[in-house]
Amino acid sequence: MSAKLLDGKALASRVKETVRCDAEQLTASGVVPGLAVVLVGDDPASRIYVRNKEKNCQELGIRSEVYHLPATTTQAELNALIQKLNADAKINGILVQLPLPAPLREEEVTYLIKPEKDVDGFHPFNLGRLLRGEDGICPCTPAGIMALIKESGIKVCGRECVVVGRSNIVGKPVAQLLLQEHGTVTICHSRTRDLSAMIRRADLLVVAVGKAGLVEGTMVKPGAVVIDVGMNRLPSGKVVGDVDFSSVSKVAGAITPVPGGVGPMTIAMLMKNTVRAALLQNQDKLGKN
Ligand code: NDP
Repeated sequence: MSAKLLDGKALASRVKETVRCDAEQLTASGVVPGLAVVLVGDDPASRIYVRNKEKNCQELGIRSEVYHLPATTTQAELNALIQKLNADAKINGILVQLPLPAPLREEEVTYLIKPEKDVDGFHPFNLGRLLRGEDGICPCTPAGIMALIKESGIKVCGRECVVVGRSNIVGKPVAQLLLQEHGTVTICHSRTRDLSAMIRRADLLVVAVGKAGLVEGTMVKPGAVVIDVGMNRLPSGKVVGDVDFSSVSKVAGAITPVPGGVGPMTIAMLMKNTVRAALLQNQDKLGKN
């Protein structure tokens, strides 16, 4: 392996330490940051993610409330819970674990969460601010990727950036953030005609597809920075990214591992967004202290 390893786990620990200090200061001023996590149904992966978020909250001094609802929950019941949490001053952030079981509508829930409590950054108001280049709540995975790039001293300005995947939660927002940093950005997706040729152009490649081993070493420009967002569970139980690590790490200049790359950064950014939301929602109160 010749590529430098971009250690998301180590950076996430440093980010979380800052968040812990901020949460401690807020708590000392009478504002305990609070995150509500809503889980509907019993998807095993979602249960693990929710437990992990709860554990992180505990470690960082963020009060967490987990609402575990049965898969039979109706849209009206789910909406009523969101409205209740929207009105609860002790809750600064609301996260609904996706995917929701059918026939629940994710869009409806995304729109319903108050933008200032939308710590996932998925509300159209927050995504609109992101598009306009305004300060707001940024989706956690793209924010984590940008933090990892910046902290590693990687320059984006003027470089060819290729993003594979165009979801609202990863592909599109990360492309927007790279554009804000003056990268020249290409977004690829399932209808892209010659994916290999597009990928080979990249000085900086972000892959967020959900297909194990989609990107191989022969497709990557020597020295490129490769950010692997994918999380794919193999039949053996092992979790791998979208990038074939063994071949790509021989060609790339820098690469994120899976696990230990983007994943830990995502959760660190969620914690950061929650504490920031608590601060913004209590500016009047804190100003008087
Ligand atoms: P989505 O399924 O919402 O989007 C996948 C994207 O990949 C789509 O835009 C799709 O194109 C594109 N795509 C599918 N097949 C191909 C192909 N053969 N070639 C090029 N593009 C293709 O996924 P998400 O964005 O939600 O997640 C992507 C991956 O990242 C998943 O593995 C997920 O588990 C992981 N993830 C990891 C996180 C972390 O913290 N590490 C956080 C969030 C996600 P089209 O639009 O045309 O259908």
